[in-house]
Amino acid sequence: MLQQTRVETARPYFERFIRTFPSVEALATAEVEAVLSNWSGLGYYQRARRLHAAARQVIEEGGEFPTTVEGWLRLPGVGRYTAAAIASIVLAVREPAIDGNVMRVASRLLALKEDPKKRVGLLAIEAKARQLLDPDRPGDSNQAMMELGATICRPRRPRCSSCPLECDCLAAASGEPNQFPVARRRAPVLPHRRQVAVVENAGRLLLFRRPGDSARLAGLWELPWIDAGSEEAPEESLRRRYGGRWEVGSPRGRVRHSVTNRSFQIEVVEAKLSSDNEVAEGPEAGWFSRAELVGVPVTGLVGKIVKLLDS
Ligand code: SF4
Repeated sequence: MLQQTRVETARPYFERFIRTFPSVEALATAEVEAVLSNWSGLGYYQRARRLHAAARQVIEEGGEFPTTVEGWLRLPGVGRYTAAAIASIVLAVREPAIDGNVMRVASRLLALKEDPKKRVGLLAIEAKARQLLDPDRPGDSNQAMMELGATICRPRRPRCSSCPLECDCLAAASGEPNQFPVARRRAPVLPHRRQVAVVENAGRLLLFRRPGDSARLAGLWELPWIDAGSEEAPEESLRRRYGGRWEVGSPRGRVRHSVTNRSFQIEVVEAKLSSDNEVAEGPEAGWFSRAELVGVPVTGLVGKIVKLLDS
């Protein structure tokens, strides 16, 4: 849950998740739908799918957790950092766990000129982290490095005078520790405009399910949408996308939504489907009350729009 997500954000989701799935067996025997629904709102749903798949793999392979870094790496969703963190903290395996904080500390200790995310930079960081690892207490040692990065060697204004590594730090010696790690060129944020159609019938909202093979948000429920700004009438774009006959009505407001390097400006509009409110063809559709939405896996944007509608 903490991949790409801050502790304060993840905490309530984690507590609810652990209450619902208190053991690896409970998670492995749950339907993926139930797992996604529990995860709903936290984003990056691939993490939930992989966690579920990993729990199933553990159970299928006898119910015992792996005991080596390589064993952990064989589980879906477990990368080098997670494998090293678990193996060192839980099993005292001598393996440096390199998260963003450790990467920053090591880059500064070395005054590294290379991009720490590219191969050459990464190898130098790994070598430094391995050299700093206490072989007798690898778990504590890894956690200490992560903590040092989070509290002392902060991204901006590192507190070098309080740092136990100051005398070995080339970045501190340079007088400009902030210059490390070297800045990477970020992908530009791409603006997008969308129209989201709200079809409401007796307090229920019409949602469509994203295909299971979508590159993003696969299998989640979302409100019907089209790209804004096309020359085609919105009714026609909606018909081509979802089937049925559509009428687009009054605007209900706007919301902003960001997904990695895409920034969406979303216009929310009321809409109606042909008199019987049925979708003639197109992807799987369903009607959900506000209460029912809590129990189904929906995209984060659905929550934002429901809040707008109810405000
Ligand atoms: Fe970071 Fe400063 Fe410590 Fe170097 S001396 S590791 S820059 S806090």
